[in-house]
Amino acid sequence: MSFSTLGLSDAIVRAVTERGYTEPTPIQLQAIPAVLSGGDLLAGAQTGTGKTAGFTLPILHRLSEVSHDRPSDQRPSNKISQPRKRAPIRALILTPTRELAAQVEESVREYGKYLKLTSMTIFGGVGMSPQIQRLKSGVDILVATPGRLLDHVQQGTVDLSRVEILVLDEADRMLDMGFIRDIRRILALLPSQRQNLLFSATFSSDIKAFAASLLDRPTMIEA
Ligand code: AMP
Repeated sequence: MSFSTLGLSDAIVRAVTERGYTEPTPIQLQAIPAVLSGGDLLAGAQTGTGKTAGFTLPILHRLSEVSHDRPSDQRPSNKISQPRKRAPIRALILTPTRELAAQVEESVREYGKYLKLTSMTIFGGVGMSPQIQRLKSGVDILVATPGRLLDHVQQGTVDLSRVEILVLDEADRMLDMGFIRDIRRILALLPSQRQNLLFSATFSSDIKAFAASLLDRPTMIEA
């Protein structure tokens, strides 16, 4: 089984091939078709299994199938005060740490290098202003840690009302780090019609209960 027979577009397969991957890992073999189908996913996966590409590749594929106009695509208008519509976030990936957020976003950029989608990271410990400027230019895929994302929500600098796909990466670590309340506050801001993907290395009763409350008839996979 190759990346193209899994249903990924040529632009994505090209980027993956250039990265040196010859065939999908077991988690990718299971996750990619499940995410492409549009349903929810519950994945048991350790770091090092290739889980990041398991969700980023099909997300890139799905979002590039239907692209939204970016502000820069808008035609010139003769109305002087034409407001610039900020394009909404389409995929939100939550991670427990800034290091993981940065790694995931780097993968999104690399695998999506032949697509027109935009991505960025939001995490604490750095200034808000550059993040706000970047958000204003329009972002399709946002990779964020929960606390700093809520800071932006409070300031009204991020629009989560049109998120189509939500990923909780290393969900067990996020719960262990006490992010459950932040995550619930973020969930309340998302549209109810969306695709949810939950990745976790372990499945405590807390994670199981949380997954049951979040996911709708998920495909369950493990690697
Ligand atoms: P992850 O589990 O997502 O942190 O990925 C672990 C490592 O596996 C990363 O260095 C990836 O670049 C690499 N990787 C992911 N998918 C593949 C693949 N299909 N073939 C070879 N390496 C891969």
